[in-house]
This record gives sequence, structure tokens and C-alpha cells, in this order.
Amino acid sequence: MVGIDDVLNKLTTVIDPDLKKDIVSMGMIKDLELNSGNLKFTLELTTPACPFNEEIEQDVRKAIDQLDGIDNFDMKVTAKVTEGRSVSQDEFLKDVKNVIAVASGKGGVGKSTVALNLSLALAKTGAKVGLLDADIYGPSIPLMLGMKGTEMDVEMDQEKRKLVPPEYEGIKVVSFGFFAQTEHQAAIYRGPIISGIVKQFLVDTLWTDLDYLIVDLPPGTGDIPLTLAQTIPITGILVVTTPQEVASSVASKAIGMFDKLNVPMLGVVENMSYFECSKCNEKHYIFGKGGAEKISEKHNMPLLGTIPLNSGIMAGSDLGKPVMITQPDSPSAEAFTVAAKNIAAQCSIQHYKMKEEAEAEAKWDGLSPEERQKILDEFTLEELSTQVLPEHEEEDEVEMQNKTWAELKHEIQVAIIQHLFGKPKVQTTPTTS
Ligand code: ADP
Repeated sequence: MVGIDDVLNKLTTVIDPDLKKDIVSMGMIKDLELNSGNLKFTLELTTPACPFNEEIEQDVRKAIDQLDGIDNFDMKVTAKVTEGRSVSQDEFLKDVKNVIAVASGKGGVGKSTVALNLSLALAKTGAKVGLLDADIYGPSIPLMLGMKGTEMDVEMDQEKRKLVPPEYEGIKVVSFGFFAQTEHQAAIYRGPIISGIVKQFLVDTLWTDLDYLIVDLPPGTGDIPLTLAQTIPITGILVVTTPQEVASSVASKAIGMFDKLNVPMLGVVENMSYFECSKCNEKHYIFGKGGAEKISEKHNMPLLGTIPLNSGIMAGSDLGKPVMITQPDSPSAEAFTVAAKNIAAQCSIQHYKMKEEAEAEAKWDGLSPEERQKILDEFTLEELSTQVLPEHEEEDEVEMQNKTWAELKHEIQVAIIQHLFGKPKVQTTPTTS
């Protein structure tokens, strides 16, 4: 007779294509009941926006079909977004599972357009989404939402003394543009004031119960990304660029600076990638080709989406009617949806990376120096000197077994995690549907 163990063993053959782990060890099977051939459980996915949700569900059904002795099978499919940042170390935004900062090397590449439409695409999958327009120097989200020139009536929760973010199509939105009318005025604010404003928008806003908070950063690097990274732990940075050489090389410079902030890079989205002609149905690469691909290769980060150049997107932004809302079935909306799902998948990957790191830390700190040395011995000296620790000094190597996890260099930590859990996940998410 089929038992619970048989069911679980069978389900371990179902692998999440993004996370490269079986669904049982990832805890996706909940409330399993088996009574004389009647099987019932809940499949809890890591995000409603995962690009592989349908595939996983089908694989589960196929796996159960292969078991003898199951007469009735009842599966409930739900999604609970995983935390891709250390919420426990965040004293301010306890209720926000992921914070995604959208950055670009230079202005005009469509960063705000992408941030807004991605927020809407994520919300459409059923996720709870917030959008913080942190581009204090030139807040464009109000224009894109059709709110230019009207100061928002932003409520204050008197008891909690916090701003209640207004909602637009199910997303909670806050922008400096809701409060300050003149763009010229915004441009003269200096660093510390700007940082203060951003901090206030993060901390003094009721960002409650969110799966994803998207933060639209100003172009380039500066006080605002720094304030963000220093105020709360964030899931990662999403880079928006266009195909031109000049845009991608500026984006590359910005990535170099973000790397120094020690924030994970989630990946890159290429905007204005191509123009699809409705007459000849061909794609024309007006701004060239391959800019984001180059960034992806150079910085070892996934290319998460390519958005077409489309007058509907521009008109949508300028008229305050985003394309995700006005043309939800258009190729442009489809491109944003694919990118949004890939980004959600990266957040789930980030969650599991953090979990692995916590496990590796607990394990390392619990080992004796001799046991640690055994692990270290398994990295060849060549690997250590050329790949893992290019500029290591001799004594580092001798001392490593006496160091706690926190004292180890980041490169060594990464190598130990790889040793314990296997190589980092390879990007598998599709950039087109
Ligand atoms: P950034 O935030 O990088 O400065 P914006 O999002 O404000 O850029 O976009 C700059 C301009 O480009 C806006 O007029 C916007 O409507 C337009 N735009 C952005 N993306 C596209 C696209 N894919 N196709 C057509 N126009 C676009």
C-alpha cells in the first residue's frame, strides 16, 4: 500500500527549475494527508509571479500519476512570497518581504517607466506591491500615474504618525512629487536633506504587508542609493539600460559602485531593445544590439527582460495611463510581465541563498579548527589563489581555520557555501515568453 514516505519520495523528483532544488526539501508541500488512497496536500509556491509555476504544478501532477494506489488526488496551489532580505535585521520595514531598487547609469533610459510597469505586472500576478519614487531630483511617477500638478491628498495615520500611501491599481505609491510641485525646487536640495527625505519615505510610511517594494532610484550613484542601502537591508538592485554602447558602459560604471555597497545585484532589464514593425512584423534594432547582454556577461548577472521600443509605452507614461493598464494584452505588457516574473524568481533565489549562508555560518562556527581545515583542504591551492582569493596573503591561508564565519573574507565564504551546497544557481529564466 502506498504510504506518505512513497508520496514524499516521489515528490522529491520534482525540481524547481530556478532554484534547482526539489520541492519537498524546499518545504513547498504542506498539509499532506493520505487516507486509504485519498491524497490531499497544498503546493505552496515561492511567489505567485514565478515563471515556472505552471510547469511545477504539472510536474507534481505527473509525479503523483505515476504512483500506484492513489484513488483520489486533491491539490490546492497557493503562493507565499519568500523573504529575500533579512527582515529580522530591519527595525523599520518589518512587513516588507522584498525591496527591489531600480537603478540606471544615466537618465532617460526608461528606468521609471520600467519600475512602474513592473510594479503593475507583479501586482497583476496577485502579489502585494508598493512603489517608492525615490528620484527626488526629478520625480516622474506622478506624471506617469496622471497625477501631475495635483498635490496628492496623502493621509496621515494619527495614531502611528505615519503616511498612508495612496493606492493606484492595487499598488501603494509614494513620490516626492506628491508633496513638492516645482521640479526646479527639488533640484536644489543637497545631499543630507535628500537623504533625510528618502529615509522618511521609507521609515515614516505605512508600507504594511508587502511582498515587493519597488524603489525607483535617481540615475547614477549618489546619496540616495547609499541612504537606502544603509537604512534597510534590501533584496537587490535591478539595472535598467538601453542597447547603446554609451548607456551600457555608464551602467557598468554604476554597477561597479553598487558592488561596493555590498548589495546583491538581481539582474539587468534592457529597455527600448527593438522596434517591432506592425507592417513587416520584423524586429528592428534601432539602438543597436547586445548592450544588456554585455553587462550580463561582464558582471555575471542575469538578463531578466527585454522591453520593446513602443509609442504606446511612451504615450502611456506621458498621458498618465501606463501600458500595463491600458493595453494589458499588448506585446509591451507581455514583455513587462515576463521581466516581472523573472525578477520575482530572482528574489526567491535570493531567499534560498540567504538560507544557505545562514546554514553555512552555523556549521562553520560550530566546527573545530581541525574540522575547518578539512573543508579548506578540499579547495586546491590553485583554486584559492586564482579564483577564490586572487590577492590573498600566505598567512591568511594559515589563519583561516581559526577565524569565525564573520571574520572570513567574502570570497572564502562564497567558496565554502559552494562547497557545502554546490555551485551557484545558473540563470534559467526566459526573457521572452
Ligand atoms: P528615466 O527614468 O530613465 O529617466 P523615463 O522612464 O522617464 O526614463 O523615460 C524617458 C522617456 O522615454 C519617457 O518619455 C518615456 O515615456 C519614454 N520611454 C521609456 N521606455 C520606453 C519604451 N520602451 N518605448 C517608448 N518610449 C519609452
